[in-house]
Amino acid sequence: MTKKIEKQEYENMTAALLRENIDEFRRLFLDMHPYDQAKFYTKQTPDARIRMYHYLSPKEMAAIFEQIDLDDDQYKVYLQEMDPTFAAQMLSYMYTDDAVDVLNELDKSDVANYLTIMGDEAAKEIKDLLHYKEYTAGSIMTTEYIAVQATDTVQKALQILKKEAARAETIYYLYVIDEVKRLVGVLSLRELLTSNDDEFICGIMNERVVSVSVDEDQEEVARKMSDYDFVALPVVDSSGHLLGIITVDDIVDVIAEEASDDYSKLAGITDMDSPDHRPIGAAKKRLPWLIILLFLGMITASLIGRFEETLQKVSILAVFIPLIAGMSGNTGTQALAVAVRSLATGQMNQEGKWKWIVREAGTGFITGATCGVLITLIVYLWKHNIFLGLLVGFSLLATLTVATIAGALIPLLMHRLKIDPAVASGPFITTLNDIISILIYFGLATWFMNYLL
Ligand code: ATP
Ligand code: MG
Repeated sequence: MTKKIEKQEYENMTAALLRENIDEFRRLFLDMHPYDQAKFYTKQTPDARIRMYHYLSPKEMAAIFEQIDLDDDQYKVYLQEMDPTFAAQMLSYMYTDDAVDVLNELDKSDVANYLTIMGDEAAKEIKDLLHYKEYTAGSIMTTEYIAVQATDTVQKALQILKKEAARAETIYYLYVIDEVKRLVGVLSLRELLTSNDDEFICGIMNERVVSVSVDEDQEEVARKMSDYDFVALPVVDSSGHLLGIITVDDIVDVIAEEASDDYSKLAGITDMDSPDHRPIGAAKKRLPWLIILLFLGMITASLIGRFEETLQKVSILAVFIPLIAGMSGNTGTQALAVAVRSLATGQMNQEGKWKWIVREAGTGFITGATCGVLITLIVYLWKHNIFLGLLVGFSLLATLTVATIAGALIPLLMHRLKIDPAVASGPFITTLNDIISILIYFGLATWFMNYLL
């Protein structure tokens, strides 16, 4: 849909909504993908939204709510606008995992209220899911999966599939269970369709089922899903009973969530500041790190102080301090970001830690040598002093090499010490690299003082 048509359609829909032209509104609105419907819905005024509840069925509203990702309070507002029976019906039409996401944001009394109106069957599944802790497999799984028995024939399985398909979140895998609901096998739709009707499921299913435990961390689930390339994973309890499935679309959200989480930790902020935070709240979160770093910065300052004599004799040295310290910080942060990500995705373990560090050292040397030669030339052309050029160049080579190694090594050390490397590494690396680079630069300068004068 191009922007222009979209705008025109939006206007038509809004007009139909205003003029209470129900048929026209439904025709235009239901033609859109639920994601676009959700975008339209969230842009409306409360009045217009209330009209929409009258023009749309609970089932149609459910499709919209499965698509929106709202701030906590917004869910409350939207549901309160609805008639409680309408809201409860809508929730029961939603996939249980999505309904649970919504209910988790509401007050306990409201949740109880909706569950009562909803009817026993729908309410029970939701209630079971509401118990699981946040960020576990249980909290993101859904109970709408397709299950068949090992003793069923392919024909029987096809019938079950046809009956359940409308409700199931994915029809691509059929999970095979025994009489007590223990997960014993799995087969894909393709495998089912390419088998003969009279074959037994136990003859064609895969018995080595990859599954996740209900209290496993969602990050772990994401990793397994991407390692095996499945579009869904079954969730089991400690004795192997099938409880639900997690589909890849929910995992995409998890990955995005964890990535923004890791990113803010990398910058030394514990929770990503939400925009409505008052300055004082945001400052409180950032200050602890800044104060620690302030003291670490004092180490750098006192180091420079120790080289006062050198600095007095060759004052031009001061000009290049920010360049050398800054560059070492930059390269350290690059190495760090790569290392943290590889730790998080498990890639580091596959490749081996030592190989990793040796490779980073190589990278550091190559980048250092390139930048070193460049800066030597620049300083020579600028200050017409080849020794000064060589000093800055060699310092940069040494600093970048060491800083890159440090950037890779520190997250590994933190990981070993069971500190989340994403939490503290960023600011720490920058400061450490300041110290290292100052030591190298002034160390070399003091050593070769005679040539500089
Ligand atoms: P293929 O890639 O071989 O063409 P497919 O496209 O039918 O298979 P995929 O999603 O690629 O299906 O799954 C590959 C195989 O993994 C299928 O044989 C499927 O039965 C099996 N499978 C699906 N889920 C699981 C699981 N949780 N544990 C083990 N095996 C599984
Ligand atoms: Mg495949």
